[in-house]
Amino acid sequence: MRKPIIAGNWKMNNTKAEAEELLTALKPLVKDVKGVDIVVCVPFTDIEKVKKLVKGSKIRVGAQNVSWADKGAFTGEISAAMLIEAGAEYVVIGHSERRQYFGETDETVNKKVCKALAEGLKPIICVGEKLSEKQMGITEEIVCLQTKAALHGVSRTQLDEVVIAYEPIWAIGTGMTATPEDANQTIRAIRNAIRDAYGDVAQNIRILYGGSMNDKNARDLMAQSDIDGGLIGGASLVAEKFEKIVN
Ligand code: PEP
Repeated sequence: MRKPIIAGNWKMNNTKAEAEELLTALKPLVKDVKGVDIVVCVPFTDIEKVKKLVKGSKIRVGAQNVSWADKGAFTGEISAAMLIEAGAEYVVIGHSERRQYFGETDETVNKKVCKALAEGLKPIICVGEKLSEKQMGITEEIVCLQTKAALHGVSRTQLDEVVIAYEPIWAIGTGMTATPEDANQTIRAIRNAIRDAYGDVAQNIRILYGGSMNDKNARDLMAQSDIDGGLIGGASLVAEKFEKIVN
């Protein structure tokens, strides 16, 4: 049985004061929740503060990017060791915004995934097709290729720590969602691709849906057999909306 994860991706939002306000509202709302992992993936500068704020709650902390390098002349980057020291347990890797605006490729995503796992961070690996790729009918090919590339060199044991997020790019921040059935079918294709490479352990891998998931549509998406949770952008910035999805 796969334990669901609801992960918030705050993106470049929430100063420390705003983070405190949000988490102060959220914590009591999710305190009795059982059977779900709750994660907030926050800006680097918030990690240490958020780690303190969620102490004693069920909320875990993640970052939104990590370098594939250990240390050295990589201006503007941040290492896995630094993230762990600040209090991160998870890290989002290969979000479509990073692929689109910051030149991340399947190759750099793979290097980051390997580095995160080697250092003890749990990667939340994002894959997803563009609208034009969906229209061409090649969604499954695209996301399976991205998944296989991201996992290149990842061992069977390390795979246990991996979370995949299927995020159709056309659905992120647009208010458009994949239908629950389409999302489930694509996620099943991703799981099958992992099964081809690793065998039956693919059954244990948590694969999330992301893309305008909110308190209204979460129930239908989560009712699908292969959708194991959500990566939530906009709705994770409002305590009452995020809480409803979690609950
Ligand atoms: C995301 O940032 O990963 C995301 C899914 O955003 P939104 O929920 O706002 O579409």
